[in-house]
Order: sequence, then structure tokens, then C-alpha cells
Amino acid sequence: MGNVKLTETVLRDAHQSLLATRMRTRDMLPIAELLDQVGFFSLESWGGATFDSCIRYLNEDPWERLRALKAAMPNTPIQMLLRGQNLVGYRHYADDVVEKFVIKAAENGVDIFRIFDAVNDIRNMELSIKVAKRMEAHVQGSVSYTISPVHTIEQFTDFTVKLAELGCDSICIKDMAGLISPHDAKALVSAIKKEVNLPICLHSHCTAGIAPMSYLFACEAGADILDVAISPLAWGSSQPPTESIVAALKGTPYDTGLDLELLTEIKRYFEKIMEIYAPVFNPISARLDTNVLVYQVPGGMLSNLVSQLIEQKAMDKYDEVLKEIPQVRKDLGYPPLVTPTSQIVGTQAVLNVITGEKYKMVPKEVRDYVKGLYGKPPAMIDPKVRLKILCDEEPITVRPGDLIEPEYEAARREVDALGLAKKEEDYLTYVLYPQVALKFLKGAAVEEVMVEKPKSDLPASGSVTGEARAFNVEVDGEAYLVKVAPAGVSIVEAQPKAPVDGVTVPMQGVLIKYNVKKGDSVSKGDVVAVLEAMKMENAVYANKDGVVKEIYAKEGSTVSPGDVLMSID
Ligand code: MN
Repeated sequence: MGNVKLTETVLRDAHQSLLATRMRTRDMLPIAELLDQVGFFSLESWGGATFDSCIRYLNEDPWERLRALKAAMPNTPIQMLLRGQNLVGYRHYADDVVEKFVIKAAENGVDIFRIFDAVNDIRNMELSIKVAKRMEAHVQGSVSYTISPVHTIEQFTDFTVKLAELGCDSICIKDMAGLISPHDAKALVSAIKKEVNLPICLHSHCTAGIAPMSYLFACEAGADILDVAISPLAWGSSQPPTESIVAALKGTPYDTGLDLELLTEIKRYFEKIMEIYAPVFNPISARLDTNVLVYQVPGGMLSNLVSQLIEQKAMDKYDEVLKEIPQVRKDLGYPPLVTPTSQIVGTQAVLNVITGEKYKMVPKEVRDYVKGLYGKPPAMIDPKVRLKILCDEEPITVRPGDLIEPEYEAARREVDALGLAKKEEDYLTYVLYPQVALKFLKGAAVEEVMVEKPKSDLPASGSVTGEARAFNVEVDGEAYLVKVAPAGVSIVEAQPKAPVDGVTVPMQGVLIKYNVKKGDSVSKGDVVAVLEAMKMENAVYANKDGVVKEIYAKEGSTVSPGDVLMSID
């Protein structure tokens, strides 16, 4: 038996980082038996973005995947990544949903729950930890690692003490951006070891090129578990390679004792798999990206930024946005950049730059964050920014989950009314992703065809020629499909002669709904419409007092910067 254990991430984080979370169950099952023989501490196989990706792109039932993997790998614990009260979605869910989800995940095969919260607010983790413990699962409490003037070794360590008090069975240092230096890894592991008598896992990414060194230093400080990915799906924004770590530690006190020949057999299988997935493999994600060290922008978030800017036809603003991100992060109290805060900070930075005015346009999610609905930020939000976003509204001080009404029963009734549920888990799929789940449960979803992407994701002009194209992009590893229209071709519907002083949109997006209709009286500053841009909801405000005289763009249509939505007289 070796002294350091390994968690293999090939079935979750590795393909989430490099293949936009597109690996199919049918490509996992043939190698499951061999993976199960290796002797890993655990196989991370579920959670994160895999749930969303299954129903959105693969026409696969995530619950069936879990059961199939569990059946195929009976000897190794199946591990999932759970975003605390966010579960595997992008918002906080009600307590009844959190409880049901954790129960069902455990019943279907999850042995180890790795639970984290983006802003390290323990209140967002308590319930899922409690329920997982009740289900007799192993709970790996995670601390989201980041670098900022307010984050210290002591603070992270104190947080792990709280996790231990909640009954966690092991601790994970979740370095999702690959920022942790060898020295800090050693210092942090040592500090936690002094306070907490639990196995410690280091999870990092190779984005900045320092993770393998940090792993060795963590071992020297007594780390018990390391996260690795089999070599064809390692490096870049993924984990350090399994085989390399096994070989590097061989013959040392940290020897993993794992069989390199067996791992080589597994590696050969995944080399072939990588050929199948070449169309969704983003070369940028495999590249070393030292920007992360300067701007603290995780690799996945960077590629998303690029597609947001292409969408907004503003690639020339790339450098400006990159510099704006640390500023927004500071304004918002230094949240670690991980789902969903990476999206919140990144999108706000894009908006600040493209509108030319800081916090002129603020998405609902950013407003919610400032209100405290995602938890307590690590540091105080800049009072001026808070005032601009919330006006005289006060942030909440209670646990965010306390403000969410139960939502499971209502969802159940909705799905039953349509006769779509085949099992209890289907209700949960629906609560988490209502629109996508309906399509999926109706059997109307189709498996996405993998299409070769344009050679470069960084077109110099910020435009794409030829036909409209779909890009697979990620935010901190979460998969999204972004459609990009060709330059010069408007995808806005024909507009009647709109007045020059009408209400306009500052960016491209989909007009979700109007809050007013023709003939309504409005006051300057009223929210008259909601625009979904860059996966977030943005309010459009009345530009003066008056009566809505004409409405120009239809609900559901795509609008471009400068398009007039309505005139007010
Ligand atoms: Mn990760």
C-alpha cells in the first residue's frame, strides 16, 4: 500500500476542463473495469457540469450514467462534486430540493461527496453535508482556494476547522484556477494538518504550469490525496497526469503503489477517445496560460471571455476586460473565481468595458450577489459600488437558503401534470434545469453532433466570416454553447423606423420579456424589459418619464447593441 492516494478525475473534471464536458457514458463504460482495478482513492465521475451537459448536449440521463458507472466500478468509491446549496446548477436551491438531491445521489451510487461553496460561506454547505452524512456517505469538505489581499493561510485553515466540526471525513483544498504555489501548498497543508485530524486532498489544475511542483510540496507537508487525470486528458486546464505523479513519487515515502503498466493500458484507451473528441477539444484549454497568475482568471473563464467578446463584437476590448476583472473582483469583495462567481465577475467586467461606464448595466445575478443572496463575500463590497447597484436596499444577513420557499412539491406537480416523470429523480432534473429538462424528459432532445470548430478562437478582427457558427465554450470548466453570427449579417428582425431617442440595448442578447406594454406610463429608471446576454439577465431601463408609444423588437428575438426596443413619449 502506498502512502499517498490518488483521485482520478478523467470521468469528470478532466473532460470538463478539456472537452467541454462532452464525454459520453458509452465512451466511459468500456474502460470502467480497468479503472476500477487501479486502486484509486476515488473516481470523480459525477457532478460539476456533467449533469447539465448530459441533458443539454448528450441526450443522456445523468442518473442513469451514475447507476451505470457504479455498477461497472463496484470496488472504487464514486465521487461527485457538489456546489453546496447550488447543487449542480447555477443558483441556490431550496432546502427541500437540496435534501432530496443528496439522498437520490447517494442512493444512485455516489460514495464520496466533495462539497464546496464559491465564497466559502459555510452556511451554504451545512445542509448538504448533514444530509450526505445521514446517508452514510464520505463527505469531503472543500475550501475554495484563491489569492487576494484578504485571503490568508489562517483564514483557510479556520474554515477547514469548521468543516471538521460539521463531521466531514476529509478535507479538499480546491485550487480550481491552478494558482497555489509550491510554498503556499506546503504552508497550507501543514497549517491544516496542525488543526484538523483528517486526510487532506489537494485539487489543482496545470493552467499556470505549477501544479506538479505544488503536489510534491504538499506531499512533503503530509497531504494524503492528490487529484490527477490520466495523461491523454491531463495538463493544460486539467489536472497533473496520473502516470507522471505515480512515477515521480515511486520509491519515496509518498509512493502511491499504483501499477504503471495498468495505467498505461488505460492511457492507450483514452488516446483513442481523444481522437473521437477532437472536434470539441479546444487547443486553448490545453495551452499553458500564465495570465492566470497575473489576473487570477482561470483558464476556462478566459475562453468564455473570448466568446462573450466575439458575441458582442468587441474583441478589440480584450486587454481592457482582462485588466477590469481584478478591479471588479476587488469591488465585489474578492470572491474566489469559481462557478458561479467566475461568471458573475467576468460578465460584469465585460459590461463595464463595453458600456464604457462602470456598473451602468448590472445583471440580476450580480445584483443578487451584492444583496448577499450567494452568501457573505470574503471582504466588504465597495460601498460606492454597493450603493450604485442596490440604491437604498440593504443586503441580507441571514443564510441565503432561508429565503427560498420550498420548491420540490410544486415542481413535482408541474411535471406530473405533463405526465413526464418516469422516476422521482426526474423531478429533480426538472427543478435544476426547467427548460432543458422539459425537452429532455419529453424525449425531444437530440445528441449534439460534434462539429469541427474554426481553427482559431481568437480572430484578430473579432468577427467570424462565413455561416453562423456555434462555439463550445466554458466558464471555469462549465460547458456552454454560444452561437455567433457572421459579421455584417444582422440577426435582428427588420425594425420599423425607430426613433433616435428610443430605449436602446447596449449589447447583443435575447429579449426575454417586456415589463410594460404600449400605452403604459413609465418613469425614468423603471425596468421596462429584460435582456438575456452572456447567460445572465440584464434589466433595460426607461430613459425618460412618459407613455410607451411604440414597441419595436419582439419578445424572444435577438437584439444588437444600439437596437431600439421602444419609444417613450
Ligand atoms: Mn477543478
